[in-house]
Amino acid sequence: MNKRVRVRFAPSPTGGLHLGGVRTVLFNYLFAKKHGGDFILRIEDTDQTRFVPGAEEYIIQTLNWCGMTPDESPVVGGPYAPYRQSERKENYKQYATQLIEAGHAYYAFDTPAEIEEMRNHFKTPENPSPQYNHAVRAKMRNSLSLDAAEVAALLEAGTPYVVRIKMPDNEEVSFTDMIRGEVSFNTSQVDDKVLLKADGMPTYHLAVVVDDYLMKITHAFRGEEWLPSAPVHILLWQYLFGLDKMPKWAHLPLILKPDGHGKLSKRDGERLGFPVFAMDWSDPTTKETTIGFKEKGFLPEAFVNLLAMLGWNDGTDKEIFSMEELIANFSLERVHKGGAKFDYEKAKWFNAEWMKKMDNAHLAELVKPYLDKAGIEVHEAPYLVKVIGLVKERCVLLPDFVTQSAFFFQAPSVIDIASIQPKWEEKKQGFFNELVKIYSNKIAQGLKTMPAETLETDFKELATAHGLKPGDLMLPFRIMLVGGKFGPGVFEIVENIELQDAMNRINHTLSLLSSN
Ligand code: GLU
Repeated sequence: MNKRVRVRFAPSPTGGLHLGGVRTVLFNYLFAKKHGGDFILRIEDTDQTRFVPGAEEYIIQTLNWCGMTPDESPVVGGPYAPYRQSERKENYKQYATQLIEAGHAYYAFDTPAEIEEMRNHFKTPENPSPQYNHAVRAKMRNSLSLDAAEVAALLEAGTPYVVRIKMPDNEEVSFTDMIRGEVSFNTSQVDDKVLLKADGMPTYHLAVVVDDYLMKITHAFRGEEWLPSAPVHILLWQYLFGLDKMPKWAHLPLILKPDGHGKLSKRDGERLGFPVFAMDWSDPTTKETTIGFKEKGFLPEAFVNLLAMLGWNDGTDKEIFSMEELIANFSLERVHKGGAKFDYEKAKWFNAEWMKKMDNAHLAELVKPYLDKAGIEVHEAPYLVKVIGLVKERCVLLPDFVTQSAFFFQAPSVIDIASIQPKWEEKKQGFFNELVKIYSNKIAQGLKTMPAETLETDFKELATAHGLKPGDLMLPFRIMLVGGKFGPGVFEIVENIELQDAMNRINHTLSLLSSN
């Protein structure tokens, strides 16, 4: 029987979540759900100097917004709790000790000043910042260079130390990446990474391996930027737990700048005017706020869909996928090796498509806060739902509903008179005066509104009677009703705002025209 699939998203809580990070979550989540497995959120907060308050809560909210709620996490717990590495501190030391005893790691007592001195001493123009590695370790103060009695004395005296991995000299380390295939490294290119810090906390390298083991992770998918660390992790697996227990790896390609040159950064978003984070992130130190896809007005369905398409497709032209469809169709083998260029126009296209698909009542709930914020009062929820249906084809992002629907709830405050005036003439004035009369008669007969089709037929007949082309009257009529050159069909607008309101709006514009 195959082992139950268990994957993890293991972020360090250092700030807002970049869309590349959310795509990593998504690919983990899709893989887990496709295989009926578990998706775990583990917070990798062992580097206390990089810890940012609020970042963990932000990550959890982002996952919830996207509909990728973890099966195990610091919030819901689970059989392998705790899920925050800082709370697992006691777990790691024994593995560091085990590595030292087996000769794969060593105590290093060097002070920061001594390391600095080593760098200055060994630096060359080709190697300006020499690493602590096989070439220099014998010249440093560690348990490989000092004799056993000296080491024992230093430890006894409580001298601060770190534990470093002893990288083998000139060996090939290789593994099969689920996206890239066979990947290999020469160990001489990798430094003797610190595994345990002076404060007793593990570094990421030790913690990630120990926790993937203890949490029975079967597949580890992470960003391509972690590929250079892979040889350290592979060796730790080999030394501590055996390669047969190691999860299968996949290093996901980068999301690139729109021009394809380099990794998409927060700064690119600021420069080019689009979000790069999932949700708004406000840095607690600098107080700087970075805009998110959520607040920009993206639907989570669209956000998830567009992320999936950054580097993956199902082998057909299909682009619109729900989460269920992604789960059913996803396969890591179809993830491209190369980076995926981010295209904001395309991202907006996904959102527009999802808005069209979305149930109007659900969309109404999402739009309501934007209308409230703009001070637009909605008295009847069913009316809002109807309006949403009429205008949603014209909206790309949620805030677009404010301009596209405000005139259904209140008369426009600004009328684009300048677009009516040049072609305004006596005959048109006569036509609209008559139209007002007709509407007023209908109201007197007790009619509040009429179907759009009837309104249209009556309007056209009246135009012909006045010797005017209906087409020449449509633009002024639209501007009277909505304030500008936009909106759905004019007769649908009249049907919904009803005769009295329509009449008032015509009268208002007529008075503006005559006073001008
Ligand atoms: N803690 C690492 C990060 O911040 C996780 C990398 C991994 O998934 O192994 O991205």
